[in-house]
Amino acid sequence: MSISQTIEKVEARYAHQPEFVQAVKEVAITIAPLYDAHPEYNTLKVFERLVEPDRIMAFRINWENDKGEVQVNRGWRVQFSNALGPYKGGVRFHPTVNQSVLKFLGFEQIFKNALTGLPMGGGKGGSDFDPKGKTDSEIRRFCYAFMRELHHYVNKDIDVPAGDIGVGGREVSYMFAMYKNLTHEYGGVLTGKGVGFGGSLMRTEATGYGAVYFLENMLAAQNDDIIGKTVLISGAGNVSLHAAEKVHMLGGVVVTVSDSQGTLYDAAGLNQEKIDWLKAQKAKSKPLAEYVDVYGGEWFAKQKPWQFKGDIAMPSATQNEVTEADAKLMVDNGITYVVEGANMPLTAEAIDYIHLHRVHYAPGKAANAGGVAVSALEMSQNSVRQYKTFEQIDLRLKNIMKNIHDSAAAASEQYGQTDNGYINYMAGANIVGFKRVADALVAYGILN
Ligand code: GLU
Repeated sequence: MSISQTIEKVEARYAHQPEFVQAVKEVAITIAPLYDAHPEYNTLKVFERLVEPDRIMAFRINWENDKGEVQVNRGWRVQFSNALGPYKGGVRFHPTVNQSVLKFLGFEQIFKNALTGLPMGGGKGGSDFDPKGKTDSEIRRFCYAFMRELHHYVNKDIDVPAGDIGVGGREVSYMFAMYKNLTHEYGGVLTGKGVGFGGSLMRTEATGYGAVYFLENMLAAQNDDIIGKTVLISGAGNVSLHAAEKVHMLGGVVVTVSDSQGTLYDAAGLNQEKIDWLKAQKAKSKPLAEYVDVYGGEWFAKQKPWQFKGDIAMPSATQNEVTEADAKLMVDNGITYVVEGANMPLTAEAIDYIHLHRVHYAPGKAANAGGVAVSALEMSQNSVRQYKTFEQIDLRLKNIMKNIHDSAAAASEQYGQTDNGYINYMAGANIVGFKRVADALVAYGILN
């Protein structure tokens, strides 16, 4: 079955899973030149196999809120591919979570993890549980209940979850405690654990810092650098605020962050003090808008950051946050680099528009791979029971991000996707990630 036939099959079978179809199509349209060069992929139906997860576990989570009322949520773990290592990918708690969202995230994760060059397969999990407005004891009870179900399917050598939207250090600790309690096993079954009980230094910073390291490599490829550049960032979570921190450390000027309520614009730029204030504010689940009372700037309710002038945009909130209209705004406002901190924040139409206008574009599976890369380093530190320093991990992260950049750029060139110095990172990243997985599948025969 050809790639286009596989797309048709996926579109027909999963018409009710639009995010998943979108993620599959993005990969499919870029790997055609690789497929042509490798007839064995077609013979062994590699793509047709990869669009179907190895398995999906769906379960119910019963828990009690603070009033003693019974609550019922849905939970899933999508084990997509373990061709390159144990299933690996985060857990998301958000009311928008469903099978389509988790399948798109799991599918992306296969290639992202492959791009890191580290031994990880791809998976994703989550629940439609909404952490917003919940007390700490409700979060704790939910995390315990979630792991009571999930522990049947995960293990340090089988499937290693971590955080994602709605799941950070606190939630990972609660889940780890329940796993330990149920299995009596102390190991690297989850990453993003607290430093001091199995976590890796720099895991918290890794996704945001890594995205900025990727950006530095993109700029260098165009003989440019970050100093003095104006950067628009969306989101105000772990990825956004650490991306902002690294941009600031390297001499760029971050003028926006945002949340579901609106956008904060500070023409003076975020400095470390302001970023620390934002981190503390978000940790307390308090409104971003209160920033203006402390540091000035302006609050734009219900608006996104793309209406402002800038050089670089880093959408780091959630999937499909950047529409074609937003992409037009970016181009009109002078953006020349778009680096995805989130997973699939640009719609397919937005990507087309960005490419058409030759804006340098880094897809999430390349640019935000730093988080999962440090998760892999956490797994290996857990296995050898020895821990690396912040500087050692930072250096590894820089090298990994450079390798991802350079290998994607080289593949774009090799497969005829680079046009007059304009690198197609989307094609390059998909080709490199897909090839690593496909070659393993070919070697395995028809198992997996
Ligand atoms: N959720 C993150 C991602 O999208 C991290 C996954 C992990 O560390 O396993 O890559």
